Amino acid sequence: MRREKVGMFSLISALALLVGVSDISAVSGGLRGKTVIFPQQSSNSYMRLLPNNFPELSAFTLCMRSATELTRSHATISYATPESDNQILFWAPETKGFNLYLMTSEAIFQLPEAGSLHRHLCVSWESETGYAIVWVDGKRSLAKTLWQGHRVKGGGVIILGQDQDEVEGGFDADQSFVGQISQVNLWDRALGDREVAEVMRGCLCSGGNVIDWSTVDFETTGAVEITADPECEL
Ligand code: CA
Repeated sequence: MRREKVGMFSLISALALLVGVSDISAVSGGLRGKTVIFPQQSSNSYMRLLPNNFPELSAFTLCMRSATELTRSHATISYATPESDNQILFWAPETKGFNLYLMTSEAIFQLPEAGSLHRHLCVSWESETGYAIVWVDGKRSLAKTLWQGHRVKGGGVIILGQDQDEVEGGFDADQSFVGQISQVNLWDRALGDREVAEVMRGCLCSGGNVIDWSTVDFETTGAVEITADPECEL
């Protein structure tokens, strides 16, 4: 099954506009209208986003669009600092659900199974209340409480496709992401329903004020492919 999956992604990538598959390539100018393919399981393939400034956060909303056929647990977004490799971790446990890790604290959400179809995910958190909320395709979850009264440290390293167990390292192939990710945006505040709906609508709205997918610089390492996002043809 895995061979077939890899073959499918290879075909997609061969047909698509290929921007970078070299070992390491740094690119400025953002990812407007682009989607990122992680074609195979690995312990060394990832995309690092390079926002101009990643401030300390007492609240945030972090969104992405993704699709994966993985049935094992995996990381999608990992933000690490020297103090903690899990400052923010988006973690999918096996086929269902979503776990938000903030340092040593976690919130577990029961969500519909992921799969081949793209879905839009937003997660908000506020230190004051500790409330974390997940939106899937604009539908809001119940609130869970974690990491109340604390802050997310700034100046760290944010990576797509791997779980950092040290800053920009400590990757485990069995936790890597295989599939497609786009539209990663980060705000320094908790968005509301209406704003999340705007974000979900796609590419014409403005991106996050900490990470804006349209403009953020990035680096890719290993087998990471960047192609045109059919949802974003302007
Ligand atoms: Ca970790």
